[in-house]
Amino acid sequence: MARRILREMEVLGYEGVRLDRAGNAVGVIPGRSDGPKVLLNCHTDVVAAGDPGEWEVPPYAGEVREGLLHGRGAMDIKGPLALQTYAAAALAEDAPGDVWVAHTVFEERGGLGMKVLMEDGEVRPDAVVIGESTHGDVCIGHRGRAEVEVVLTGLAGHASAPARARNALHLLPGALEAVERIARDQPEDPVLGTSSVAATMVDVLPESRNVIPDQVVLTLDWRILPGTTDEALMARVASELTRTLPPGSLPGLGWSVRMASEHQRCFTGLAQDKNLLTPGFLMDPEHPVVKAAAGAVGRRGGGVGPATVRPWTFATDGGWSCGVHGIPTIGFAPGEERFAHTNRERLDLDEARWAFERYPRLIRAIQEALAR
Ligand SMILES: [Zn+2]
Repeated sequence: MARRILREMEVLGYEGVRLDRAGNAVGVIPGRSDGPKVLLNCHTDVVAAGDPGEWEVPPYAGEVREGLLHGRGAMDIKGPLALQTYAAAALAEDAPGDVWVAHTVFEERGGLGMKVLMEDGEVRPDAVVIGESTHGDVCIGHRGRAEVEVVLTGLAGHASAPARARNALHLLPGALEAVERIARDQPEDPVLGTSSVAATMVDVLPESRNVIPDQVVLTLDWRILPGTTDEALMARVASELTRTLPPGSLPGLGWSVRMASEHQRCFTGLAQDKNLLTPGFLMDPEHPVVKAAAGAVGRRGGGVGPATVRPWTFATDGGWSCGVHGIPTIGFAPGEERFAHTNRERLDLDEARWAFERYPRLIRAIQEALAR
């Protein structure tokens, strides 16, 4: 996928076409002057297609039926990726500043590619446009997502002799009660809504039906507001666990709290233990970049006035560019969010053509607003 993007960039006259160490595909269309730099971003990964038999249209055939491109990645995100790549090229010698394009790896697993791109700093944009579906609206943020693990510990033993063991499962009701208490009291944002937390998985070790387990890991999926830190989440869980499972009352048993992590390996060989956290972010609807973007895009369907400005329901790599690195970030792309990650994924090609036609003026308007 990355190599295909690089080939297209070469053909389209991009400069500095390369893979970075994470395998992000990067290129630039130089501006006619030294104006503000904009980065266009989609990602090269997709979520799994699942059972092809559950699809009305084969997930990887790229079929167009009645003006809709069907299949995994049609809208999340290869359709918008192609659109961004070609829209930037249409601005050759016409944009006031450089237009960077970087399509990143691992977006669907917490954004390792965007994290590395931002940390390495070879691409230093003044604004970022994310190509996750907005159905033609201008999106300005989303909640973040964190995975927290509660580790319950005991002493393993043969199930025929429970007295010799300490069953870690006995701590599970207290741990779930703590999660319920946390869930009832979550902070709220007027635009993004309420932070939410849910217990989603229990792993028991050893995985054997005739052994009393010495370790139980309870996974919490936490949809967080911008600015939430790992430390704050872990401290909150620990403080509620201290109430429902007071340490002194648990002979031979114990608990701890940690952030979930996953070993991720990029196709370039770069490997990291990545904390499974996608940060949130929220732009001020009055920010000049947001105002310029909404004005330049206009209303889908040809109505009067600026585009609708709203948050996304899902998380994107904008959490890294804006939430962590403070770079003004917005989203604009065709496609309806409700089809993302489903077996009905599709892209309306008329809407895609409309968005493609809007993209150059969107980029220019952002650059002009930043220059002012
Ligand atoms: Zn996506």
